Order: sequence, then structure tokens, then C-alpha cells
Amino acid sequence: MSDPVNKKNTAMAASDTWGRPLKALRISVTDRCNLRCQYCMPEENYVWLPRETLLTFEEIVTLTRVFSDLGVDKVRITGGEPLLRKDLSTLIRMLRQNNRISDVALTTNGVLLNEQAQALFDAGLHRVTVSLDTMKPERFKALTKRDSVEQVLEGIQSVGRAGFKGLKIDTVAIHGYNDDELVDLIEYGKHVSAEVRFIEYMDVGGATDWSADKVFSRAAILQTLKQRYGAIEPIEEESSAPAQRFLLSDGTTFGIIASTTTPFCATCDRSRLTADGMWYLCLYAKTGIDLRQPLRSSTSDQDLQSRIRSGWESRQDRGAEERKELERVNSRGRFIEIDRLRQDPHLEMHARGG
Ligand code: SAM
Ligand code: SF4
Ligand code: SF4
Repeated sequence: MSDPVNKKNTAMAASDTWGRPLKALRISVTDRCNLRCQYCMPEENYVWLPRETLLTFEEIVTLTRVFSDLGVDKVRITGGEPLLRKDLSTLIRMLRQNNRISDVALTTNGVLLNEQAQALFDAGLHRVTVSLDTMKPERFKALTKRDSVEQVLEGIQSVGRAGFKGLKIDTVAIHGYNDDELVDLIEYGKHVSAEVRFIEYMDVGGATDWSADKVFSRAAILQTLKQRYGAIEPIEEESSAPAQRFLLSDGTTFGIIASTTTPFCATCDRSRLTADGMWYLCLYAKTGIDLRQPLRSSTSDQDLQSRIRSGWESRQDRGAEERKELERVNSRGRFIEIDRLRQDPHLEMHARGG
């Protein structure tokens, strides 16, 4: 019998209507979170995905195998807060059995990282990204409604100790909130051997507090950093990664993910699987493709593969560019109303995984 995980890939890789390949899959393992970031979960109450609908680890591995048949070679585990999912390192170990997946990464808020970093490293996780918007305890509490900054900083310290290289720190830059802390974050990044990436505040589903005046743009970020560091060189590199990288004169690098002011949909090879098996072809997509139902009706790999292929081959999404175009007619505001989010929690950023 052939090895079901690493059998030779005979399927043709899938490309969408713009010729964008299917390469990177973000897998959300829970929609729950232990923080309440103002830009992601600002409401008092949320509707959660029913527990019985959450994919098991075996189901996630099966879907990942089918995705890898079609060209996916990078996986990012996300949430909600992925470290809330019990035994996450077991899932990492299972995913690492698939040798067509060359990169397994994790995005976490870091609160539970200190206690799990070593197990994750030992299980074969390649890379960790920790989200950190401020190092000031009061500010952290105001932003996240939780008093956990010390735990996050300990979590960040534990990453190198566990053996990981290539730590990234992701910071959502918000005008009037943390735009005075960008230099401190770069300096902290140097201290913990992490590359900092500044993300523009996006008007995604769930960002019900978003307004254009809170976006601290790429231009503003560069201007702020120039005042402290002098000349900043863009790094020229061929990449479908969302961050554009820059070099400071002391050799420090950092990134900017300018999805709001300078969208990069033309090279987007990413799609997202929610914890209950809905597949979304764009962060802004309002509808997804249900993969749980066919998976649970004992559908063959071939059938799952043809559903995924036909979904990707008809993909036209360029959500961030469409949002940007609304600025021309002055109608860029809240993307999805709260009532609609309550009817369909899949529309929330914390269900899609960022
Ligand atoms: N809970 C984990 C974390 O925060 O790292 C993983 C899930 S979270 C949804 C993934 C990323 O999305 C985080 O880096 C977060 O900062 C980012 N994010 C959430 N809402 C955002 C928004 N409105 N604009 C920009 N980034 C956002
Ligand atoms: Fe914050 Fe991530 Fe939780 Fe959203 S999912 S509230 S970004 S920690
Ligand atoms: Fe990709 Fe959609 Fe984001 Fe554009 S908005 S980069 S198409 S996920």
C-alpha cells in the first residue's frame, strides 16, 4: 500500500483566474481567544462556532494533504488564539509527516507561548510570529481588555530558548494609539532577535471600530522611523509574502504590511480554512466553500481535490483592492455590520485567522 501522506503528487498545481498559484494555507484551529483586541474583537459578546463542528486533527491533516496535492507547500496555524487548542503540538507533529509541506508556521498572541514553545519546537514547528502592539502594561490592558503583557513578553523570550530561529513580531500600527512606540518595538525586536513587521489597520470583518483616521499608513510609519534612524532602504526581493521589507543603516531589517493603503492582491497565493472547515479564498470574501460536510460524508480525496481545484480556478478575489477603490467615491467605512457578523461568525477576522 502506498504511503497516504507522502504519495507522489500527480495532480497539477492549481492557478486562479489571474494565474495566482494556490500555495499558502492558513489554518484556524479555534475561533476562541484569550484577548479582546480592539481592532479585532471590540464587541462585548460573540457568537461562537459550535464545538461539534470543529475539525479534528485527523480531518485537518486530511484536508492539508489534499491541498498539498494541488500545490500548497506552506501552512500557518492561527485562530482565534491557536494555543488555546488542546495539544496543538500533536497537530504540528502530524502535519510534519507530510513532506510536501516545507514550512509550518504559527501566529499567536503569545500569552500561552512560554509554556508551549518547547513542545512546539520539538514537534517540528518551523517558525513563530507573535503579535505585540505595545509593551506598556496599561496600554496593553486598554487595547486587549486583559492584563497579560508580561506573559506575552515571557512568551517572546521563550521562542529563542526553545531553539527557534526567524522570530517575527507583528504590530498593528494605529494612529493615536501606538504610533509613538514604533521605535521602541524595533529596539525590542533587536534585543530578542526578532524582525518586527508593522501592519496597517485593516477594515476586515469584525473590525467594527475601524475608521480611516486610525490607519497609520506605510508612509507615516516610514516617516516616523526615518526621524530616528535616518535613511531607510527598501529591500528588493521576489516574494509573494505580504510584507515589504526595509533595511536600516545599522543592518536591522523590518517589514510593513500595507494592505490598507497599498494592497498586494495581484500576487496573493493565500487562502484560509476556518476551524470548522469552511474555506475562504480571500480575507474579505463574504462566502466560503464548505469542506467539512464532504469530508464527513467519506468523500474521496479525488472529490475533495476537484472541489478545491474548481474553487481556486474560478477565484477572482482582490478584496483589499476593492476596499481601496471605495475611497475614490468616499464610501470606505465599516465592511460588515454587527448584526450580519452575529448571523455568520465566519465573517469575523478571529474566525478567519488574519
Ligand atoms: N490570535 C492570534 C494573534 O493575534 O496573533 C492569531 C489570530 S489574529 C486574527 C492574526 C493577526 O491578525 C494578528 O497579528 C492581528 O494583529 C491581526 N489583525 C486582527 N485584526 C486586524 C485588523 N483589523 N487589522 C490588521 N490586522 C489585524
Ligand atoms: Fe487579538 Fe488575535 Fe485574539 Fe484577534 S484573535 S483578539 S488579534 S489575539
Ligand atoms: Fe489576498 Fe484577498 Fe488579502 Fe487581496 S485582500 S491580498 S486577495 S486575501
